[in-house]
Amino acid sequence: MSRILNGATPERIGAEEFIPPPKDCFAPNEFLARAALDSVLRQPASHFGDTTQLESILRRTEVERRREKYLALPSREELIDNRRRQQTAPSNELWLALDLSPDDEKHACASAYDGRLTPGPVLGRFLLKAPDGGPRQWSAAQLTELAACGYKFFARRVLLLREPDEADYEQTALETGSLVHEILYAIFTQAEPSDPTSLRASARQVLDEFHRRGRLGARDPAFFELEWASIEAMVNESIDHEIEGQAQHEAATEMHHEFPLNFMLSRESSTVAMGPLEIMLVGQIDRLEIYRDAGRIRRLKLIDYKTSRRLSEYAELLKPARFACEDMQMPVYALGAAESFRPGLASDATVEASYIALKNRDKESEPQPIPLALLGGPLESAGQKTVAARILNLVAGAVAGGFEVDPLECSEYCPYRRVCRYRKPVFHS
Ligand code: SF4
Repeated sequence: MSRILNGATPERIGAEEFIPPPKDCFAPNEFLARAALDSVLRQPASHFGDTTQLESILRRTEVERRREKYLALPSREELIDNRRRQQTAPSNELWLALDLSPDDEKHACASAYDGRLTPGPVLGRFLLKAPDGGPRQWSAAQLTELAACGYKFFARRVLLLREPDEADYEQTALETGSLVHEILYAIFTQAEPSDPTSLRASARQVLDEFHRRGRLGARDPAFFELEWASIEAMVNESIDHEIEGQAQHEAATEMHHEFPLNFMLSRESSTVAMGPLEIMLVGQIDRLEIYRDAGRIRRLKLIDYKTSRRLSEYAELLKPARFACEDMQMPVYALGAAESFRPGLASDATVEASYIALKNRDKESEPQPIPLALLGGPLESAGQKTVAARILNLVAGAVAGGFEVDPLECSEYCPYRRVCRYRKPVFHS
């Protein structure tokens, strides 16, 4: 734990500043009983309290000892810093998030109050098997929930606690996002993508058609019209961005929109009881550009559309220090794209990822190159520091009953706050 002194230098705070000394945790008689239990006094402990009191003292002491030990272990930030110093990451020391294998000691210290379940065949089957007995399908969104906060994943996906979506007069953000994706898909697949005139004509036609249909099905036409103005602006600005980009950058050899992903990841399990760890990853890449030289793929570029303004926040998720840390969307997509085209990749092929924030005037983030070796392959072993291994580690951790909260990622607006035991410290809110 640390605090900033004079607005500048972080200073480590000792445990004694926020954990009261033992003498303040016990009444005087309890303190003497504790001393007697430790054989510091000649009198027997029973001299200072009855059995119930002594048991309570022992239990509280144990809880405090464990808490002190837990707090003294490195936080996730410190682990990342340590690993940066040790330079243990694979091809590039900056790609640190892939090294987020849990700290063994901290894991061992987690108790029933830290998001742990007793693992068993029922949990294993739930997380690894589809209803037809085949491997369970995992999406990037599910993996992101698990990576960001194990307890949130547990509450939503295992206990299935969800508030019903209340249909309001306005469109939900999800509905707007899906609609914009559908419109862009229709425009790019109907137009001649390298021809600005065709793109603009297709955009007009598709927008008119979606507007007509959307208005007919809207819960409230007036609210739909309000939202439509923003949808139309996002789409038109995206088409402008596309045309500008075409004038400035080389054209892709192939372009796929809503490219489907469906591939297996597996690992021999460390425990015989669990059998091999096998999952099916599914998803759709909003846009996948392929650049070839003499038939071989030299560059794969993935783009994800967000109906948001927060371009810099999304760009941050692609940076080496954050990649595959708590957001698994682009890591899953990059691995999936590489898997789908692996036989055709040139030996020095590159993979790049970027976001388009549709409500931001700058539109696209700087494409982030991702080393191919960092992605890994469909058959991973436990010790590897790759995206594939990170995904399998997350799933293996859940199968082992680990659904720990991550205080660094605890959201103010988490819908599970009412059922979660973790309380954000006051100075964080
Ligand atoms: S309140 Fe915070 S710790 Fe609890 S489930 Fe939500 S995000 Fe996780």
